[in-house]
Amino acid sequence: MRAVNQVLNGWGNYTPCQSRVFRPERIRELFELMRNGDQEPSWIGRGLGRSYGDSALNPQGGTVLFERLDRLIDFDPQTGMVTCEAGVTFEALIRIFLQRGWFLSVTPGTKYITVGGAITSDIHGKNHHVDGTVSQFVESFDLLTGTGEVLTCSRSENTDAFWATVGGMGLTGLILRGRFRLLPVESAYLHVDFQRARNLDEAFALFQEGDQAYRYSVAWVDCLASGASLGRSVLMRGNHAAVAELPPRWRQSPSTVPLRRQHSVPFNFPDFALNPLCVKLFNALYYARNRDQQKIVDLDAFFYPLDALRHWNRMYGKRGFIQYQALFPPKSSRSGMIALLEAISRSRMASFLAVLKVTGAAGDGLLSFPKPGHTLALDLPNTGSRLRALIQRLDQIVLDHDGRLYLAKDATMSREAFSRMYERLDEFRRVKARLDPANRFVSAQARRLGIVEEG
Ligand SMILES: Cc1cc2nc3c(=O)[nH]c(=O)nc-3n(C[C@H](O)[C@H](O)[C@H](O)COP(=O)(O)OP(=O)(O)OC[C@H]3O[C@@H](n4cnc5c(N)ncnc54)[C@H](O)[C@@H]3O)c2cc1C
Repeated sequence: MRAVNQVLNGWGNYTPCQSRVFRPERIRELFELMRNGDQEPSWIGRGLGRSYGDSALNPQGGTVLFERLDRLIDFDPQTGMVTCEAGVTFEALIRIFLQRGWFLSVTPGTKYITVGGAITSDIHGKNHHVDGTVSQFVESFDLLTGTGEVLTCSRSENTDAFWATVGGMGLTGLILRGRFRLLPVESAYLHVDFQRARNLDEAFALFQEGDQAYRYSVAWVDCLASGASLGRSVLMRGNHAAVAELPPRWRQSPSTVPLRRQHSVPFNFPDFALNPLCVKLFNALYYARNRDQQKIVDLDAFFYPLDALRHWNRMYGKRGFIQYQALFPPKSSRSGMIALLEAISRSRMASFLAVLKVTGAAGDGLLSFPKPGHTLALDLPNTGSRLRALIQRLDQIVLDHDGRLYLAKDATMSREAFSRMYERLDEFRRVKARLDPANRFVSAQARRLGIVEEG
């Protein structure tokens, strides 16, 4: 198979790099590629490139695109168990299965990701406090390792490979197929309570009082608010709606998400377009518009508001942006969040609303991100040295409060910070050394963070 030379990027457009890209049409072709793959010193798998940083980039070797490896293999309508190739997207799963009464058990804030990308990032959603990460619903997957073996990995078979791959950012090998459970739902709608919190303490109190009543819980935070309004937010918490709860006009086709016109950002915006004043205005308007209320909301509006604007990442201009997602454990959540929000607010670096979530129990993934506490995710535009200085301050705050950063979002973390944040890194390295002794699977992120030491 011939490589195509292409500039690839993470979703943040922060670290573009020339890549040699291979796009197998069938798993058989992928095997051949790996067998004859000595032409490339290393490899990394890539789904839809929705990780923000450099985890799906490999400028020093080959990149395997999974977009054509997208076949459904099996579905059990009694249990909701799906088996499919790793390139199947969440968008396709919703399109095919929602009409049959099934939705994703865990979904991120975009449906444009693949099954392989979801498993290797061990993604979490707005239901983490109740359901945990996506790996809770994964029964098994087939992994092509660095030694050329295909291992079926589950909680009872090749267990260490299972827990190293879940959250392992593609470094244990290529996921070929996954088998996982969907969630039964009656409709394409949720009933959602919107509630405003005047500051961070109020938001934390509301989460604490009410979260157990909701499967999904999230808050949008105005990161530019300060003083007594620091951390002011709008909480959005909801549950799937039964057909009987829908207004009569929607009961005819309860599993159909209303069609919306999709808009697209046609080109990279110039740098001045996102100035602090316009972002501040947007955030203030958003807070003012969202009064306390209950609404029936469709899945697209609740889970995927950003997907309505294709290429929205171009709004940050040619220089791109990073997404900074930090998590603090319960004992330091409040002080960590306050320090983080104060530093961001003081920096006057424009950022649209940030996302605040409560996280539940930790899973067993060796490099999985979530554990109990609170997590905050926000975009920061690339302003060169100003951004780098801010990130240094933020990283220090996260470390001082025993927090950690999410690998699927990371583009800037240092080796030292990473090894302090991920206490099971050595365990991960041991499993990787067995599955991939010659380090055939490496990403730009793995090199930067020293997860993999080459040659
Ligand atoms: C708007 C937006 C909202 C988001 N919200 C959330 C959220 O709420 N929660 C959350 O957890 N994440 C969230 N994310 C991050 C996203 O869910 C993850 O980055 C996800 O991994 C992207 O999937 P992908 O298919 O695009 O993978 P890519 O970005 O292409 O790759 C991600 C990683 O998976 C590896 N990989 C991909 N396919 C394979 C394969 N077949 N075999 C081996 N390795 C593979 C890559 O090597 C890389 O390390 C969000 C991203 C965006 C853009």
